[in-house]
Amino acid sequence: MPYRADITIIGGGVIGLAIASQVAKEGREVYVLEKNEAFGQEQSSRNSEVIHAGIYYERDSLKARMCLEGNGLLYEICEKNGIAYKKCGKIIVATDYVEAEELEKLYRRGEDNGVPLKMLSRKEMGLLEPNIKGIAAFFSPTTGIVDSYALMRYFLKKARDNGMQIAYKTEVIGIEKISNGYKVKVKDSSGDFSFMTGVVINCAGLYSDKVAEMAGINIDEANYKLYWYKGEYYSVSGGRNKLINRLIYPVPMGISLGVHVCLDVNWRLRLGPLFYYVDDISYKVDDTRKKAFLESSMMKALPFMEPSDLEPETSGITANLRGEGDGFRDFVIRHEDGRGLPGFINLVGIESPGLTSSPAIARYVSRLVNELLGNETG
Ligand SMILES: Cc1cc2nc3c(=O)[nH]c(=O)nc-3n(C[C@H](O)[C@H](O)[C@H](O)COP(=O)(O)OP(=O)(O)OC[C@H]3O[C@@H](n4cnc5c(N)ncnc54)[C@H](O)[C@@H]3O)c2cc1C
Repeated sequence: MPYRADITIIGGGVIGLAIASQVAKEGREVYVLEKNEAFGQEQSSRNSEVIHAGIYYERDSLKARMCLEGNGLLYEICEKNGIAYKKCGKIIVATDYVEAEELEKLYRRGEDNGVPLKMLSRKEMGLLEPNIKGIAAFFSPTTGIVDSYALMRYFLKKARDNGMQIAYKTEVIGIEKISNGYKVKVKDSSGDFSFMTGVVINCAGLYSDKVAEMAGINIDEANYKLYWYKGEYYSVSGGRNKLINRLIYPVPMGISLGVHVCLDVNWRLRLGPLFYYVDDISYKVDDTRKKAFLESSMMKALPFMEPSDLEPETSGITANLRGEGDGFRDFVIRHEDGRGLPGFINLVGIESPGLTSSPAIARYVSRLVNELLGNETG
């Protein structure tokens, strides 16, 4: 590591890598610091890999704006760079009248956000998905699936080609404001050491509140405290994937989008995630919750599914700003000069649709960085 970097990005998940791919350029010393031994080992590789359309989020929120822009950018990036994806679309289906009312509201919200959607008649629903059961549904043609690992590899290569360097097994343990930037203290296999940097970009995912705290921000006052929200997936065997033509989602009736059909680019079928709050990081699936899976609205929409088709598989944990019972929370993407931290950019609570939004978030942060460093060099 040099004595002084221009930009230090904390976290090598999809957000840190996407930002690195935008801000790295000749003449800038850009570093990504990652505590794990490889990139993308946390949220970014433990998700549904869905390219969301932008239906669910409050109008004009960062989530809505970044998701819509990211959706278009992601398809473009995938197409140009040979990253596996499928623009398969999705159907959101209501299985009773209470859900049907919520479905109408969701449809209007999606339309308000500028998402192309189509309300389906029962006949159209039957033609698109003959094996699913529901009383009302709408179709989202711009929803899709991406190979998230290949996407991260693309961002990493692009950043490296532009001179970014990534340090694995390197954990940030302290951040101190100094006269012309920050002193960052890190821990690696050789021990602790510090270096200077002009700009810090906090993309630490599940720990981004802790990193903000290291820089001296009171996370309770700033409302940056994160809640860990664990989502479990079940694999589905028995050739059931052949009975489904696209992603199928329930009407969300709580904080999460609800247990839904997850398909990857190879059409491997899973159901999930079923979410609950946790205090510790463990990715073990608690199979005592299978009953909740079997009772989910999604199972009602998939009458061909047998309980024995479902096997506990994997899980992911999101960095959620929303605690139990809280309302909508937006992404926090903020240059903290107002808190006396010029050059410190926080990204906190980048939960779903963070994967979809990654290229748009990278552009957004790159503009903040260019305002700080100028367009040319650091
Ligand atoms: C179950 C689940 C399903 C999801 N489904 C979707 C979906 O279908 N579509 C979608 O768009 N989004 C989805 N998401 C959201 C998406 O996965 C995240 O928004 C995105 O991956 C966040 O990326 P990130 O880089 O911010 O975080 P992460 O991938 O968690 O990366 C943060 C990195 O920071 C590192 N780090 C933390 N602290 C330090 C430190 N002190 N020093 C050095 N390194 C540090 C970590 O090791 C980690 O690698 C889902 C998330 C989950 C968990």
